[in-house]
Amino acid sequence: MSDARVLILDDDEMVATALHAMSQGVGAQARATTEPESFFAALESWQPTHILLDLNMPNLDGMQVMAELANREVEAGIIVVSGVGRRVIDAAARTAAARGLRVVGVLDKPFLLEDLEQLLDSDAALSVPLAPAAGAKRAATFTVTVAELARALERDELFIAYQPKVECRTRALAGFEALVRWQHPEHGVVMPDRFIPVAEESGLIDALTMRVVDLGLAWLAGWHGADGIDANALRAANQLTLSINVSPRSLGNAALVEEIEARCTAHDIAPARIILELTETATMADPVASLDLLTRLRAKGFLLAIDDFGTGFSSMVQLVRLPFSEIKVDKSFVMTSGTSLESRKVIRSVVELGRSLSLTTTAEGVEDEGVLALLRELGCDLAQGYLESRPLPAEAAREWTVRHLRDDEARRLAALRDLGVLDSPPTPHINRLARLASDSCDMPMALVCLVDSERQWFKAACGCTFVEFPRDQGFCAHTVLRETAMVVPDAARDARFRDDPLVVGGPRLRFYAGVPLHGRDGSRVGVLCVLDVKPRELARTQIDTMIEIARQVERELAAQREPGDADRRRLLAHDALEDRMRAALTVCRRIRVDTALVVLEAVAPPSPADLAVLGRLLAGGVRGADLAGELGAGRLGVLLLGSDAAGAAAVLQRLAAQAAHEQSALLDAFDVRVAVSLAREPLDLGLLLRAAAASQATRLGALPPPA
Ligand code: C2E
Ligand code: MG
Ligand code: MG
Repeated sequence: MSDARVLILDDDEMVATALHAMSQGVGAQARATTEPESFFAALESWQPTHILLDLNMPNLDGMQVMAELANREVEAGIIVVSGVGRRVIDAAARTAAARGLRVVGVLDKPFLLEDLEQLLDSDAALSVPLAPAAGAKRAATFTVTVAELARALERDELFIAYQPKVECRTRALAGFEALVRWQHPEHGVVMPDRFIPVAEESGLIDALTMRVVDLGLAWLAGWHGADGIDANALRAANQLTLSINVSPRSLGNAALVEEIEARCTAHDIAPARIILELTETATMADPVASLDLLTRLRAKGFLLAIDDFGTGFSSMVQLVRLPFSEIKVDKSFVMTSGTSLESRKVIRSVVELGRSLSLTTTAEGVEDEGVLALLRELGCDLAQGYLESRPLPAEAAREWTVRHLRDDEARRLAALRDLGVLDSPPTPHINRLARLASDSCDMPMALVCLVDSERQWFKAACGCTFVEFPRDQGFCAHTVLRETAMVVPDAARDARFRDDPLVVGGPRLRFYAGVPLHGRDGSRVGVLCVLDVKPRELARTQIDTMIEIARQVERELAAQREPGDADRRRLLAHDALEDRMRAALTVCRRIRVDTALVVLEAVAPPSPADLAVLGRLLAGGVRGADLAGELGAGRLGVLLLGSDAAGAAAVLQRLAAQAAHEQSALLDAFDVRVAVSLAREPLDLGLLLRAAAASQATRLGALPPPA
């Protein structure tokens, strides 16, 4: 093998030296390096025939090196060196092959001279079970010329295939990605990887992008009168998003932003429904120039996704610095997640990264239920892939959508029915949460609204006496279609609402902010909203508070269905109590109110019957939405939101008075300890519990009567 030139990259110097010696031992020329700069320099200057690449380098990311090799369209045969499991290596090799790299094989530890010799001798690329990706670089059967592509644009031969994106949790439709195709008169349908590079090289790319924008926006604006669409589906269709791929070359085109914006205005489509996708490597190319254009797009309300994340070279810093709103995990990880632990780890960390930066996370290439279940478990927001649907031509995508939206609504209504609260009497806990929302947002009205098939029914109404509205009036029917909060600063200036009967007449509503409420399966069953009769604004922190309160409303709605003795049920079980106390404290911390914790310690462990009486007394003796339950070891806890020591004493006195009134001896059997956390102090359940334990105990029955 005397004509082989072997370039070695391994961050372990000893391994690099060993592989160097081995390569020379089988008669090849060899160079070894421990870091990527000199590796890529040698790659260019020395043109190796083979690359020995360690995938498992603690200080380097072998997969990133592999991605860069693919970017550079390296022809050298790649031999993967690693001590990590065979499955991981195979997955990595498949990924590399799918990207058009020639993977010759795997050199396992312990390294054997004859294995290396055989690999250097073999010409065959590793046979990969995976079909080559639609865009595998070497699959071309005819060469696209610039003239042909220009003609295709002129003759309108480009069309779009629409691929749905669905919510991982519920599979509800969120939107589509527009994927361009070329209906070639002789060669049939040509895939984008075959002609996008030509468009980029020749300067046709901006024209191509605008063609996609035109086709896509016209499609997105055309739901009215679609076959079989009803009013609810139409409302949902008019909130769907469309993702459009933008080439890195276009980031230099300063007019792009205005052109896309003008077309959105012409089609009456809110920029917030348009997501522009940039590949990870693309944003790397010129981060400084990109920043300006991307920031302008975001400022106009467009959303921005980083595509194929995990394959390029961009760092966390770039992700944080550029104004992305969504992160798309590359399909090479998603498609191999069933067999590769490494891929699962990548997905997990990308999802966590996305969450920590408040980005929507999307997984591409979801082909089976197992992967979807994994994504759900990891908390990934959206899924795109053949499992839900292949990319569909315009008409087929429309039919598919109408069917899918009908199913989404049926599932949503089933989740609402499952709650079993429609037309139930008001409950103090939920009323109090509505009051908390109105107080914390400084708004005169708040509603807990459940969106039924034909109406909006209010489980709680604070500051107003609304009972129900028709579904198609007002705002909540819109909010229930989306995961994010909906804020309407001035309904009279919003085309969707300015003619609404609730805005022009009746309560004359002007301001609205709502966050969705979820049923058990994650379906959006209703909305927690605040309202005003004049235009207003809401701070981000107030919306966050609403989201926290909405989580509590969901817990209360679910708790109403928990079976068991009615009185006893007023006392929460240990785990549930601590969980809900923590959630309540988070809200108190946000809105800076005092909180008191009362601990009742049984002299003897209470019987279930005692607990039932206590549950009734506590529920009657304290205000609603204050949490009462078992703390374990014969202790009961009551959390009083918005109370200081005097407030806690008053509640305890009422409790004692009620016990006396019922001639119950029970309360004599309890010691009371109280801990108070004032608004200015940090609130933490652990601290409060410890403070209560350290406080002076009083016999409950020995409390003075109420003033
Ligand atoms: P992308 O933006 O990452 O799009 C996703 C690609 O994954 C699409 O390939 C889609 O068909 C494919 N895909 C989706 N789900 C699955 C799955 O479950 N399994 C497998 N094996 N593949 C799946 P497509 O349509 O061939 O597009 C390839 C790339 O071409 C796109 O990757 C995008 O980078 C580029 N592209 C497509 N349309 C445009 C466009 O209008 N403008 C620009 N600049 N680039 C475009
Ligand atoms: Mg894309
Ligand atoms: Mg992608």
